[in-house]
Amino acid sequence: MKLIENWFSERYSDNLQLSFRVSDQLLSIKTDYQRIDLFDTYDFGKLLAIDGTVQLTERDEFIYHELITMVPYHLTPKPPENALIIGGGDGGAAKRLLDLGLKHIVNVEIDDQVVEVSRRFFPSLSSAFSDARVKLLIQDGIKYVKNTSEKFDLIIIDSTDPEGPAEGLFSKEFYMDTRRIMNDGAVIVSQSGSPFYQPKAIKLAYSGMKGVFNDVRVYTGFIPTYPSGFWSFTVASPWPMKQRPVTTSGKYFNADVMEGSFRLPQFVKELIT
Ligand code: SAM
Repeated sequence: MKLIENWFSERYSDNLQLSFRVSDQLLSIKTDYQRIDLFDTYDFGKLLAIDGTVQLTERDEFIYHELITMVPYHLTPKPPENALIIGGGDGGAAKRLLDLGLKHIVNVEIDDQVVEVSRRFFPSLSSAFSDARVKLLIQDGIKYVKNTSEKFDLIIIDSTDPEGPAEGLFSKEFYMDTRRIMNDGAVIVSQSGSPFYQPKAIKLAYSGMKGVFNDVRVYTGFIPTYPSGFWSFTVASPWPMKQRPVTTSGKYFNADVMEGSFRLPQFVKELIT
């Protein structure tokens, strides 16, 4: 008889946590920026946690990665050809953009250990970094955006929550710097947390972008392993965003999701007014 069971729990508060029964802990390291843990879970396959918060699991990563790429992809005036990803060290966002046919992607991740872990444990995502169309830079995205002379059709902020190294990625100053490196018609998107448990993230992203861009919108989706399962993204452009026809679908994304994900519950509307 097995007496001990192992669980990984993400603590949402002193009184609430989500627990995954795990068959193994494959890695636990402390990097210069954060703690990285890798678990093999029974229900969600491999799970990557940073500082105790779930970043992705094998089973549901497609939802987050489709939402953060395919929605903004359809809001540029013509299909974007190049993109900047800040964060995204697992490679999932870059992989989806390659699938969408982008020709040039710069992916700026601050922590090389996230990339290494993904290369070992999520090869189908990190394979994007071996593609000639993807340039991976290990540096702080805030500094990159301040200093680069490259311009982009699409900017994706695929970061951790607004604490530690990611805090500045939710500031008005950072969004002002991104404005400078946008091609005509460009769109920026940021993951903006759980509207239910983390109103701080959505409020920071929305108010910061409102101070810089003319058209700012929030959309949401269902991601079972993130707090509350209900997640938000904030998308913006200096130009009015007009949706191009949706001719492609993913495993989560389709034409209905493109429209429906912008229909917000009242409590979310109230967070951003
Ligand atoms: N899907 C995830 C989520 O919302 O939980 C995000 C995944 S991705 C692993 C987040 C990445 O953002 C981390 O690897 C982290 O190192 C990176 N990151 C945080 N702050 C950053 C910064 N200032 N510049 C570049 N990358 C940053």
